Parts: sequence; structure tokens; C-alpha cells
Amino acid sequence: MQPEDVAAATHRIAAHVHRTPVLTSRRLDERVGARVFLKCENTQRAGAFKVRGAFNALLQLPPAQAAAGVITYSSGNHAQAIALAAGELGIPATIVMPHDAPEVKVAATKGYGAAVVRYDRYAQTREQIGADLARERGLTLIPPYDHPHIIAGQGTAAAELLAQAHGLDVVLTPLGGGGLLAGTILAAREAAPAARIYGVEPEAGDDGLRSLRAGRIVHIDTPRTIADGAQTQALGEWTFPIIAGGAADVLTVSDEALREAMRVLATTTKLVAEPTGVLALAGLLTHTGTISGGRIGVIVSGGNVDLDRYAALIATQ
Ligand SMILES: *Cc1c(COP(=O)(O)O)cnc(C)c1O
Repeated sequence: MQPEDVAAATHRIAAHVHRTPVLTSRRLDERVGARVFLKCENTQRAGAFKVRGAFNALLQLPPAQAAAGVITYSSGNHAQAIALAAGELGIPATIVMPHDAPEVKVAATKGYGAAVVRYDRYAQTREQIGADLARERGLTLIPPYDHPHIIAGQGTAAAELLAQAHGLDVVLTPLGGGGLLAGTILAAREAAPAARIYGVEPEAGDDGLRSLRAGRIVHIDTPRTIADGAQTQALGEWTFPIIAGGAADVLTVSDEALREAMRVLATTTKLVAEPTGVLALAGLLTHTGTISGGRIGVIVSGGNVDLDRYAALIATQ
């Protein structure tokens, strides 16, 4: 993949996604001793950067495949993004969700016009259901991160950030399966070749860090963490080589650091973000001494969190 893939994606999806704001805060700058630029993808359509990859992938489907429809297995932000993008583009979408997925999420997905297929997560795997349905019904499977069109689409967030805040020394992104980090590395390769790009993942799910150290994709059990959007078990065949070749490093943060970052974000900018959304900010707050640079970009990746859960998460004690 090339930086041009991200540039092409930026043009392709421009009419469908928000160019989200970049916020700064003097209090935050003083706390970390650098100028911090927050790219607010929690204000993106459907509440996370995932619509970028979704539109970039769906807009490139050959007409026959678009007419037949798409399928994905995810109960999180990727599902909402595919449902929204497919609905807007007139593409039939099927989302495979566990039988015990929260009804609000199922309702939201149906609200965008997608069909929801439930499965028993103790008896079946979502990959199997997805693959079976794709074959039986002739649907195209759109994976959440390991696809070049998804990676290029996610990279458009960093491409915008680099244009909005010139001359960044460092960019920090959350890291799950690596679509966002790989896209960011591609975006920076041309726009800011000297910038150091870090991925930040939950301590409990440090497969990215281990993979980087081992020089191969390391698989782990589903990690227990409040960062539900980063509970991936492994980087992808597409994302790993880009990350291994271009990331300065992978940093990890505790769940407590995520709660603190949610509080800091709310206090300094009045923004609500989900736990996974503040991974990069928590990385900056935790590893301030390691990350050197006067101008630091931070991707706040999503804001989809139930308000009662949010209140419980930011409560101290
Ligand atoms: C999906 C997601 C991530 C992780 O993105 P990857 O491309 O899987 O690394 C981070 N934050 C939010 C809010 C997400 O929805």
C-alpha cells in the first residue's frame, strides 16, 4: 500500500464524512509539557472514525457486488459504520451480532436499515456464521481492519490532522487490529516523514507490542479491558507489516489510565469519549517522559458509550 491510497480515499469519502475538528487546551499542554492537538473523531458520523473505512470500502465495490450486498460480524463501531454507509449508498447490509448483544446496539444498527442476524456466541463463531452467510447469499464480507480499503480510509483521519496542525513531531493513535495505526503510518509517510507514530493498546491486550518485539503476528486470548473496541486478539496480515515497518513503538496503558484520560478530556475540552477512544491520550499521559516532541497529535477515536456507563467509569473511588 502507498500514501496515495490515503489521498485517494480522502477525495472518495469527502462528501460522506465530517472533517472533524482539532482541539487544543492550555491546561493539557501544561500538564504534558508540549503542544497537544486532539483530532476529535468522537464527533465523527456514527461516533467514530470507522465510517471512513466503511465508505472507502463500499464506494469501491463493483456494481454487481454492491447490488448483492455486504456482511460484517462485529457488534461495535464497525457494524454501525457499515450499516450507516450501506444505507446511505443503497447497498443491502447484513450484520452478524451475538444473541446477547445490547438491544440498544441492535436497534441502532436496524435503525440505519441493516438486517441483523443473531448467533449464539457459546455455540457458534461469528467468523463461521459470517462466512456461511456470505457464501449462501452471495454477500461480500467487509472486515473491520484487515483490508487495504479499510486501512486507507482510516488513514484519512491522520491525513486531515496533519493538514490541520502543521509540523507534528509525534502522532499517537489507539491500536486494536491496526487499521487506524497502519492508515496513519501511510498518511504520515508523505505528509510528515519525520513524525514518530505510536500505537497505544490496553495493557491486558498487548498483542501489538508483543508482535512488534517478536517480528511476527502474536495471537492472544480476548483481553479483559474496558477498552471494548480494542479487544482484538491479533493484528492482521495487511496491518502488521505496515506497523512493523513504520511505527516508532507500541505503548500500553492500564484501564485506570483510561478512566483518568476520560476525566482529563472532559475537564479540559468538555468532550465525551469512550474508553477505547482515549487510548492515545492515556498513552501520552502515562508515557510523557518517553514521548519527546514539542507538537503532539492525538487521535480521539470514538465517543460511543452509554451515558450511565460513562458516569460510572469517570467516577473516582
Ligand atoms: C475500532 C476502534 C479502534 C481500533 O481500531 P483498529 O483499526 O482496529 O486498530 C479504536 N477506537 C475506536 C473508537 C474504535 O471503534
